[in-house]
Amino acid sequence: MKYAAIQNYINGQFVQASTTKTLEVISPVDGTLLSTVPLSSSKDFDNAVTAAKAAFPAWSKTPIKERVQVFFKYKFLLEKHLKELAELCTEENGKTYGESVAEIEKCVELAEFATSLPQLITGEVLEVSKGVECRTEHAPLGIVASIVPFNFPSMVPNWTIPNAIALGNCMIIKPSEKVPLSCGKLAELLKEAGLPDGVFNIVHGDVEIVEAICDHPAIDAVSFVGSTKVAKIVYQRATHHYKRCIALGGAKNHLMVLPDAIPNMTAQNVAASMSGCAGQRCMAASAMVAVGNVDHIIEKICDEAKKIIPGQNLGAVINKASQQRIESYITEAEKNGAKILVDGRNTKVAGKENGTYVGPTVIDYVTPEMSVAKEEIFGPVISIMRTNTVDEALAIENANPYGNAASVFTQNGGMARYIIEKASAGMIGVNVGVPVPREPFSFGGWNDSKFGVGDITGKSSIEFWTKLKKSTTKWNPEAGINWMS
Ligand code: NAD
Repeated sequence: MKYAAIQNYINGQFVQASTTKTLEVISPVDGTLLSTVPLSSSKDFDNAVTAAKAAFPAWSKTPIKERVQVFFKYKFLLEKHLKELAELCTEENGKTYGESVAEIEKCVELAEFATSLPQLITGEVLEVSKGVECRTEHAPLGIVASIVPFNFPSMVPNWTIPNAIALGNCMIIKPSEKVPLSCGKLAELLKEAGLPDGVFNIVHGDVEIVEAICDHPAIDAVSFVGSTKVAKIVYQRATHHYKRCIALGGAKNHLMVLPDAIPNMTAQNVAASMSGCAGQRCMAASAMVAVGNVDHIIEKICDEAKKIIPGQNLGAVINKASQQRIESYITEAEKNGAKILVDGRNTKVAGKENGTYVGPTVIDYVTPEMSVAKEEIFGPVISIMRTNTVDEALAIENANPYGNAASVFTQNGGMARYIIEKASAGMIGVNVGVPVPREPFSFGGWNDSKFGVGDITGKSSIEFWTKLKKSTTKWNPEAGINWMS
């Protein structure tokens, strides 16, 4: 085993979980046994709650300008440890080293945003009637929880950690049991940055811990990122207990390619979007709608896909089950009459025979009722459907239950604007394959890709992680009394 057995992180210390139940953490890159992760019990979770509760009074009363000093230091520590964090990310998740570097760079940007929060939460004040002032301030919620998926071991935790904590909350995070190593490193950096013990805690585990988070009366808010199936369970359970909850789910993102699209740029963007992070991104292009005759672009997409080599510029998928699931989607599409233009099945990487790889796959002549057209595949696969008009393409996009992202490739500004208006997704790209809004813009989809109000990052997250206090004040008795004061 490459690393020591993973421990929980409670009250500033790494501590043994009370359970003997563990799972192996296997690297998808080459099958190396990296570590074991404990499946903690609700008793472990209670210990984390106790620590967070003890830390909350002092942390929440620390002025925000002081709280964000931790995140200035944290940002520099992320930069200093970028290589180590990126290597860990690649080992446990399987993405390429370059993709892991980009992931940590995004963490730096998220930490940077948190340092700007004092500028953004100044509140408002107004003399609402003679001598009477109303004023608002953002108060922390209390103890909050973050439940995260496997596909971004550092970035998704950092969607929530800096903002929630800088805004005065104490946090318990439950990492994905598939990629539990990176969060431990983040805890070390937060401590080195000066975060007081108990403000940030990690409890590893699976369903039992997620249920404890949703049920525990001391947890004030829950953020979740993962599949739609689990997002629905968590949203229902947390709100059933009257907690604030935002739950981000899965995706099926459509790219609409019009005949006037710039061929090379479109092909490069489509291929990069569908294959980046081995297709395991909630913003990945998964379905392409070819409007009219774009055969010349499809040909170039295939050329680009063939340049993507597993084990070199294409990482592994998370595990064997995932590899088999992706391959069975391709096989089913082929049986149902779709044409496999580039086939990524049965991929082996020399020297990494125990790694789990699927090559880039382009499937043409997919029809909207096929599983590859409707379901999230979460692999480096693009399913091409063909329509004659933009409205037919939009009808396909609108009919899918998800709504994370959609993109259009065209040189016609009016047409792009029309598609921005009509697409049913929270994040839209024009000639952009992965339309992730950068900070300070917020990240969040629509429909079955997100449950709850607001978004998880950026300015929108301020409303989620705080509650607004409104005070009305009068100091001068000569102002008199009327119905307004
Ligand atoms: P997942 O839903 O299987 O797991 C997410 C978290 O929920 C993990 O921490 C896991 O331990 C826990 N969990 C799993 N099953 C559970 C259950 N039955 N009850 C309670 N908790 C449970 O997701 P994943 O496979 O880790 O991640 C991939 C999914 O995440 C994809 O669907 C992807 O689209 C989605 N995702 C969405 C976004 C977004 O912003 N919308 C971002 C990243 C990933």
